[in-house]
Amino acid sequence: MKHNFNAGPVVLPKEAIEATINAIRDFAGTGIGLLEISHRTPGWEKVMAETEQLWKELLNIPEGYRVLFLGGGASTQFYNVPMNLMNTKAAYLVTGVWAKKAMQEAKKLGNVEIVASSDDKNFNYVPKGYTIPTDADYFHITTNNTIYGTEIHVDMDSPVPLVADMSSDIMSRPVDVSKYALIYGGAQKNVGPAGVTFVIVREDILKKEKGSLPTMVDYRTHFDNADPRNNSMFNTPPVLPIYTMYETLKWVKANGGVEGMYKKNVEKAALLYNEIDRNPLFIGTAEKEDRSLMNVCFVMNKGHEEKEEAFMDFAKKAGMVGIKGHRSVGGFRASIYNACPLESVQALVACMQEFEKMHA
Ligand SMILES: *Cc1c(COP(=O)(O)O)cnc(C)c1O
Repeated sequence: MKHNFNAGPVVLPKEAIEATINAIRDFAGTGIGLLEISHRTPGWEKVMAETEQLWKELLNIPEGYRVLFLGGGASTQFYNVPMNLMNTKAAYLVTGVWAKKAMQEAKKLGNVEIVASSDDKNFNYVPKGYTIPTDADYFHITTNNTIYGTEIHVDMDSPVPLVADMSSDIMSRPVDVSKYALIYGGAQKNVGPAGVTFVIVREDILKKEKGSLPTMVDYRTHFDNADPRNNSMFNTPPVLPIYTMYETLKWVKANGGVEGMYKKNVEKAALLYNEIDRNPLFIGTAEKEDRSLMNVCFVMNKGHEEKEEAFMDFAKKAGMVGIKGHRSVGGFRASIYNACPLESVQALVACMQEFEKMHA
């Protein structure tokens, strides 16, 4: 048996995969496969509407927000956000490579103020005690730093519209959406396969002159108040990843919703972090208070560095997949997203304990 700890794309609920396979064969009893239907068939419009409804329900999204399903990945939002929201200046919190990439794209389009950065310690913590400039058009944060295993655990107050890249922790914990003006992310870390990007945007922050932006860039292109059947269907939507996302969200709902995911995630993360802290062979890389519930980063402890390859081999033989750390941190990273079962985390912990005994 394989235990999938990949950082992205990731393990998805079996139910969502099975339902997708069935839909590819025969979509909603039409006798035609999902990949072969028109996105204007009523059955598909229903999937789009229900997917949007699931997002609103699971995250308790207030009135006045739109939920969009777009192409291009989170990386496309790195420039879509400033193009839609920046007039004179934007503020960025730099907590990792993704945050930095987002900031660099904004810099090409206007003035950027870096409010704080954890670059000085290879992004192993989340900066605190900074002041958000009140003259910025928005403040951009990355709530979970996938590569470094740090996470912002609170929905902060911001004097200017708060924009968050939640690619790698969306739906992993309850979020007070009303604190954010815009939330975006690639689906492939927690809510589906690669190929669809979610954008949750408060409509009243979209104030640029109509027609001034390239059509596809303007978020307003992707919703239609007169005819909601056009929502996220200005052009052909990525039907396959949206369908798997739809089934993944149904699975989230059936398993206690976001609150249920959070409880399970806390349990899984505690199990693994406790072992890292207890086992003398390993040490965590992120500051304890900023540790991510999604990406658990650790390395061999001092004096045991030379055992890294041996542990990797040992873990691989025991069925662990995708635990190699990102090259900028080294060591190991276990990504334990929503669909990663507790049994997989237990198996990894058992592996670490056995390895300890072998080297006692
Ligand atoms: C993976 C990731 C991205 C990049 O997403 P793409 O959809 O591949 O562009 C951006 N931000 C964060 C936090 C990520 O984890």
